[in-house]
Amino acid sequence: MAEVYKNFIGGEWVDSESKRTFENRNPANWDEIVGIFPKSTPKDIEKAVEAAKNAFKFWKKVPVPKRGEILGRCGDIMVERKEELAKLETREMGKVIKETRGDVQEGIDTAYYAFGEGRRLFGITTPSELSNKLCYTVRKPIGVAGLITPWNFPMAIPCWKVIPALLSGNTVVIKPASATPATSAKLIEILVEAGIPEGVVNIVHGAGREVGEALLAHPDIGVVSFTGSSEVGSRIAEVCGKTLKRVSLELGGKNAQIVTSDADLDLALEGVLWGAFGTTGQRCTATSRLILSEKVYDTFIEMLVERVKKIKIGNGLDETVEMGPVINKGQREVIHNYVQIGKDEGAKLVIGGEFYEEGECADGWFYKPTIFKDVKPGMRIEQEEIFGPVLSIIKFNTFEDAIEIMNDTIYGLSSSIYTKNVNLAMRAAEEIEAGITYINGPTIGAECHLPFGGVKNTGNGHREGGLTVYEIFTEIKTIYVDYSGKLQKAQIDTSVEK
Ligand code: NAD
Repeated sequence: MAEVYKNFIGGEWVDSESKRTFENRNPANWDEIVGIFPKSTPKDIEKAVEAAKNAFKFWKKVPVPKRGEILGRCGDIMVERKEELAKLETREMGKVIKETRGDVQEGIDTAYYAFGEGRRLFGITTPSELSNKLCYTVRKPIGVAGLITPWNFPMAIPCWKVIPALLSGNTVVIKPASATPATSAKLIEILVEAGIPEGVVNIVHGAGREVGEALLAHPDIGVVSFTGSSEVGSRIAEVCGKTLKRVSLELGGKNAQIVTSDADLDLALEGVLWGAFGTTGQRCTATSRLILSEKVYDTFIEMLVERVKKIKIGNGLDETVEMGPVINKGQREVIHNYVQIGKDEGAKLVIGGEFYEEGECADGWFYKPTIFKDVKPGMRIEQEEIFGPVLSIIKFNTFEDAIEIMNDTIYGLSSSIYTKNVNLAMRAAEEIEAGITYINGPTIGAECHLPFGGVKNTGNGHREGGLTVYEIFTEIKTIYVDYSGKLQKAQIDTSVEK
């Protein structure tokens, strides 16, 4: 039986005022309804923002370490419920159970990091140019945070936003992706169980165009944090710009792995398999391009194809399965269209390029791991985010060519180089235009205490994760304390007194 979910507004689980609902289904078995959710309207957003605005009056005054303690408890509850949450996430999102356990673990790590940060949240102190004067900064909450999340990390991404927003003293209204709203609803349940007071955290389910936009446009929302496609991100910035909101955007990627001729090829092979086909290629950091030295081109492709043939596809709840389905029928069509585009552009399809419909997989949205070789820089499959298990291989001659191919994209999220040559590794770290570079590791694998985000169309300069996420969710206040007992004028009283 599908679980029936509600919105959470002002401390109560409530239906949408529309009384309408939508369902989400298991992408591995489309007959299975995972949950039924309220199809909300701008009126529901109105109520949620009102509740959050009222709650902000007291939540901002709760000492930061106390907020941290509640978030630490949230981490403890996630530890206890990790398996149940991972199974639910696999059912609604499709990725394999090992990965959904990792997704929940990232939520746990984020909660424990916030627990510690509650006893820091440092400002700076610095000398004054005048005598007997103290200068320092403190971090203040902004107000109500509007959070909009995608479907590919239904636990980690909501945690990345909700937890630091709350630690900073903001109250929250979150609208999760309608393809994967169940896991995010469980996060809210856990926060409540951990002791978050009523009104501080609110969730409203529904369509981006309708409730998402209402959230962005609301004058009482002080900060918006969005993760999703660059296309929607640009729309978010446009709407938020009208009311001069702070907006943090984490958007698409077209990440690449370089393999030089001297690289440990077995290691590079494991890296590209995990980077390209982990999460069925549906990560913003997925490896969708392999930039391969001409000296190892044929050998490496042969090794890769042999290994890809053995990838076990199926329902992610089966512990032996390595690759689950894609999120829905529409996304599978998008992927298949890109395969056709690749063929039309003259790239050579080496393996895959088809639906996978064997046995029970016929009931879901499975796609074979797909590799194109002889892809040329500038082809659409080399430039556009496909968001599926499709890898494009491009041959390079010199290291300079490899870097040029790597950087020739509108995105700049993650990147990787496999090489044993320390000079090339360090030059890559220096010259690649991306928010993240891995040396001898795949393009995926971010850790919650480090900054996460990208350059160019991947975002607008903010970084989630680590300390930098607190830049997004706080205002800096500068405080000057003059204890000289006289009027002192900065920039004017320039003489040095004896
Ligand atoms: P999406 O942009 O389609 O949707 C993201 C969210 O925005 C959803 O909750 C959706 O309902 C909402 N939305 C859609 N239109 C809206 C509008 N007009 N106003 C307000 N909200 C709106 O993205 P998706 O398909 O859910 O996720 C895949 C994309 O997310 C990929 O491009 C991927 O690269 C990106 N992503 C980026 C990161 C990162 O950190 N850089 C992480 C994960 C995913």
